[in-house]
Order: sequence, then C-alpha cells, then structure tokens
Amino acid sequence: MKKVKEVVQIVSGDSKRCPHCGFLQESNMNIGEVINHYFTHGYKLLHVGQETTWVQDNPWQKTVAVLATELSLKKVKTPPQSFIKIDVKGVDK
Ligand SMILES: [Zn+2]
Repeated sequence: MKKVKEVVQIVSGDSKRCPHCGFLQESNMNIGEVINHYFTHGYKLLHVGQETTWVQDNPWQKTVAVLATELSLKKVKTPPQSFIKIDVKGVDK
C-alpha cells in the first residue's frame, strides 16, 4: 500500500464510533462484524493481533485489528442515511 490516509484500530470489547458514518461498535459485538463494516468504506486489513491488558492482576486478551484506507475522510463513501428518517405523515390514519 503506497499512500495510507486513514488508519483505524479496532479493539475487541471496546465501544467506538465509526468516524465516517456514526456506526457504533458495541462492546459485545463480534470484531469480525466491525472489520466488515470498515470494508464497506474501502478499508483494507493491515494487521490482526492479540493484546494483553492487565485488569486487577488478571490478564485480559483482546483482539486488535488495524485497518487503513488510501482515501481521505472526505472521499470515503458514506452509506445513505435517508432510511433513518421516518415519514410520520404516511402512517396517519
Ligand atoms: Zn462507518
């Protein structure tokens, strides 16, 4: 990959919002789902690995994925948001 413009790091168990469309990664979400989401923006997977965090003397294994895209934030395609809007007038009885 020649030009890397945007890089995101996904950590399993984290809650994080996608900088492009507001998609929320929930802490109980499968990391594969989150990686797939970034694929829809044209990201490529650079690295997947394990990270150990110590929580009260207990090791906690996390999966870390690093994704990158050559596109700048402005050029990243955003899925249409229009489906979120609900036409209240249409359901009037
Ligand atoms: Zn997104």
